[in-house]
Amino acid sequence: MIDQEKIKQAVQLLLEGIGEDITREGLVETPDRIARMYEEVYSGYEEDAGIHLGKVFHVNNNEMVVEKDITFYSTCEHHLLPFYGKVHIAYIPDGKVAGLSKLARTAEVYAKRLQLQEQLTGQIADALMEHLQPKGVMVMIEAEHMCMTMRGIKKPGSQTVTIVKRGIFQDNKDLSDTFFQMIR
Ligand code: ZN
Repeated sequence: MIDQEKIKQAVQLLLEGIGEDITREGLVETPDRIARMYEEVYSGYEEDAGIHLGKVFHVNNNEMVVEKDITFYSTCEHHLLPFYGKVHIAYIPDGKVAGLSKLARTAEVYAKRLQLQEQLTGQIADALMEHLQPKGVMVMIEAEHMCMTMRGIKKPGSQTVTIVKRGIFQDNKDLSDTFFQMIR
């Protein structure tokens, strides 16, 4: 549960910590504004992917389903700075599929928490495995990390790519290759 009062106090301390005057006009409402913004940015803690993946449709055709270029915004847990980019999801159904928009919703549930890109990739794949019981899942995330581009090594535009395979994607190179072709 988001504790707005604690966030406000913390932001005030943070501002004082960097030597700011928290009473000046531009900053007076900042702690309150950030507390309200965090309700949305970290809303994923309140949600379970099962809500989105719980409703399934039965199919006879178990061909690969690909949802690509799902835009996401998340927050790096090491620096509390955004990382953002695209998620690509593929799965081979085993008689059950989810509504296409539900794949994007699932990615969002996990993105709206403090994250590591590797962990986010795995959580999306595991949620699909758990709720749809498909033959296999593959998830790829391409993202730019503000903690890499606005500080430290400063490589604007550099992308971090993570890939997770579950089920039959793990030992079937043809399936992985098909996925890569479809997202290009
Ligand atoms: Zn970081």
